[in-house]
Amino acid sequence: MKYALLDRGDSLSRELAEQFHKLARERGLISNPGSPDLIVSIGGDGTLLQAFHSFSDRVQDVAFVGVHTGHLGFYADWKKTELEELVTLIATSEPQKVSYPLLRIQVVTDTETKSYLALNEFTLKRPGGTLVAQLNINDEPFEMFRGDGIVVSTPSGSTGYNKSVHGAIIHPSLEALQIAELASINNRVYRTLGSSAILPKHHHCDIVTDPSDDLALLIDHLTLRFQGVRSIICSVADDKIHFARYRPFPFWNRVRNAFIGSPKEITGQNFPKKKFTGLDDAGEEK
Ligand code: NAD
Repeated sequence: MKYALLDRGDSLSRELAEQFHKLARERGLISNPGSPDLIVSIGGDGTLLQAFHSFSDRVQDVAFVGVHTGHLGFYADWKKTELEELVTLIATSEPQKVSYPLLRIQVVTDTETKSYLALNEFTLKRPGGTLVAQLNINDEPFEMFRGDGIVVSTPSGSTGYNKSVHGAIIHPSLEALQIAELASINNRVYRTLGSSAILPKHHHCDIVTDPSDDLALLIDHLTLRFQGVRSIICSVADDKIHFARYRPFPFWNRVRNAFIGSPKEITGQNFPKKKFTGLDDAGEEK
């Protein structure tokens, strides 16, 4: 088993990275940043997003696992105190492979088309003022958007920026993308859907912009500036990200823990214990 490790760069993450390498050597794992099978990120969800972008050209061939140094993350689910258990499981067991959909973003300018993958979302903004863009769905004009921006998210990204702008949460076993609005202007002159829209894998949307606009394209944690953009095509990518699960980590438990709290915090007592029922096709608890 060859692994690559990315840490957030702060002193705690670096210290944990050293511990990981030491434990890994003892258990016969090989550090091979150039050609890994497993990518380990130590930090938070942001570190896993960075790790994903570092290996996005080989995403089909690698699996990811995340360790968090603060609070439980959506992608980083191992605690810093569980490092030894994690390394032992990597060295001795075959993980469940859980695959989540990604977003393909194609930026079309007069001279070229650039393609990107996002794990969470793509956000379009116009830093100089109101974004004005035509939204087409499956090559048919859908609406003329005016407002702060448009967020197009993956199912696993639906709990990130998308949730803050009142988009729905989508289970990552559904191959879909979600379009949500950032402060759209709606009055007697300008009209948008007003709610988020979810497209299946075989649909796509184009955001058609004015090529003279200076645009900010935010892809996960990255911000790119573009001029001369004619359109941005968003679709569910053919590739998926794979996570190596060494223990179950059901999506809805993560959502509950992150946004609602534990049963004890809500009701003062634990919910009745439920027996683990196994994993579905996406490797999530049924
Ligand atoms: P950051 O340091 O500002 O972190 C933002 C927070 O988002 C962190 O707490 C992180 O754990 C959490 N997060 C990341 N991915 C998530 C996901 N899929 N589900 C739930 N929470 C998630 O920024 P960063 O670490 O560089 O992460 C970039 C991400 O931050 C973006 O992809 C976007 O989803 C999110 N973001 C959210 C808002 C907002 O909610 N208003 C604004 C900008 C960016």
